[in-house]
Amino acid sequence: MTNLILILGDQLCPQISSLDGADREHDVVLMCEVMSEATYVGHHKKKLAFIFSAMRHFAEELQEAGYQVRYTKITDKDNAGSFTGEVKRAVNDLKLKSVCVTEPGEWRVLEEMKLWSETLRLPVDIRPDRRFLCSHEEFARWADGRKSLTMEFFYRDMRRRTGLLMQGDEPVGGRWNFDTDNRKPAEPDLLRPRHLRFAPDKITTDVLQIVEKLFPENFGMLAGFGFAVTRTDAESVLERFIADFLASFGETQDAMLRDDPFLNHSLLSFYINAGLLDALAVCRAAERAYLDERAPINAVEGFIRQIIGWREYMRGIYWHAGPVYADSNFFENTRPLPAFYWSGKTDMNCLSVVINETIEHAYAHHIQRLMITGNFALLVGIDPKAVHVWYLEVYADAYEWVELPNVVGMSQFADGGFLGTKPYAASGNYINRMSDYCGTCRFDPKKRVGDNACPFNALYWDFLARNRNKLRANRRLAQPYATWDRMDEGTQRAIRRQAAGFLADLK
Ligand code: FAD
Ligand code: SF4
Repeated sequence: MTNLILILGDQLCPQISSLDGADREHDVVLMCEVMSEATYVGHHKKKLAFIFSAMRHFAEELQEAGYQVRYTKITDKDNAGSFTGEVKRAVNDLKLKSVCVTEPGEWRVLEEMKLWSETLRLPVDIRPDRRFLCSHEEFARWADGRKSLTMEFFYRDMRRRTGLLMQGDEPVGGRWNFDTDNRKPAEPDLLRPRHLRFAPDKITTDVLQIVEKLFPENFGMLAGFGFAVTRTDAESVLERFIADFLASFGETQDAMLRDDPFLNHSLLSFYINAGLLDALAVCRAAERAYLDERAPINAVEGFIRQIIGWREYMRGIYWHAGPVYADSNFFENTRPLPAFYWSGKTDMNCLSVVINETIEHAYAHHIQRLMITGNFALLVGIDPKAVHVWYLEVYADAYEWVELPNVVGMSQFADGGFLGTKPYAASGNYINRMSDYCGTCRFDPKKRVGDNACPFNALYWDFLARNRNKLRANRRLAQPYATWDRMDEGTQRAIRRQAAGFLADLK
């Protein structure tokens, strides 16, 4: 035996670079469920079960392909509890001569790996992660020297590079972006097809029991676990999405409905992020649906933009900004996360619906994350690190490389505009327009002050007034500030008093 190949829980892909040139007879693939990763934040129970089960299935897939796999379960009594400990143990037990791994998705783990060549006294090869379309070097070349890192320009480069939805040098349909045709509210639709769910097999059933036993206090519920945990099942989810949901993806992308948590979203982030699906292949499947006239351009372009645009861009920002990005706190916010983020118990119906769906599914779609839980945290001034940890814990697709820039940059504007051009702050009016949450809420989205006034309204204006010094130069906020300035002083005072009362009671 010669080489140890470490495969992490979100690298479940036979084409992962660490397997390049592997000698199936002599090299050993190490996969390990370790406590340090399972507990560095308190992950949702369904997230833990999804990753452990998908890892166990992938280990079987590798064994069937002829690899020698050493698999450490979370319950193994000699489990060393960390990547470093498990790599050391394997190297010593098997007398291996070198270690190879594909780069991880977090600074924290990369720092740990960088110490290995010294501590193990072995060559350690940390390889680039080819699953992403844009390497760190390419992103840095794109970003360096630019005044602003606008995603739209990055996205156009990615379209040119991949050839997706391109006719020569021109975008198909004559436009790069069809968002103006999207962003509509949605009506409840009892005939909307159902998203695929999978009954737990023996491996998943074992994992569900272990997670309940080892992590009983963690956030979320295990009941109803229906994630795909194999590549084949994840591919079925993709096929179902393309056949039944893609055509309407664009128009309902920003809509929120009380009894329809998934709408026409793809539910593919879990599988793409863990390695069960390839991002480019997913985009090619969507492009094929457009070419075959099974889905319109606004839907397909919008979907592809999320993946080769936003997903790649977020990953680029994460590595480009460095580990200090996690400390960003532009508004100097210090308020702790309110307790209802863990229980879902609040009279504000929009927050209650989204948090309860998160507890149940370890999922919320983009606009729920951005404009409900994210928007509220921004308006009331929660410490962005606490917001970051919450998102990392509660969603089954959350890994720091994608979660952190979405939370710290896009949602909380804690980087002061490094990533986004303006804070995603909105009043109850927006939520009322884009959802059916307000109809059954005890608050009135049209009122700014008074007992039953929607808290988002006073909080929105208070946020703008409170942070005026920091935001005054932002041209995209000129209009809301002009509206605020047009209000008479009495109205302004009443709104700020209403917000202060709410904030004083917020626990
Ligand atoms: P769809 O709506 O069907 O979109 C298709 C695909 O596009 C997704 O599967 C995903 O791969 C990609 N995508 C869409 N938007 C983004 C985005 N902003 N950044 C990166 N990829 C995107 N996404 C994660 O994968 N992990 C996270 O931890 C995560 N945290 C987020 C936190 C906040 C505050 C916000 C605002 C967004 C976050 N996102 C995160 C992005 C987005 O919300 C999820 O990717 C999406 O909701 C996943 O559901 P879906 O697969 O049904 O997506
Ligand atoms: Fe949310 Fe306000 Fe609508 Fe209630 S009225 S659901 S608090 S936006």
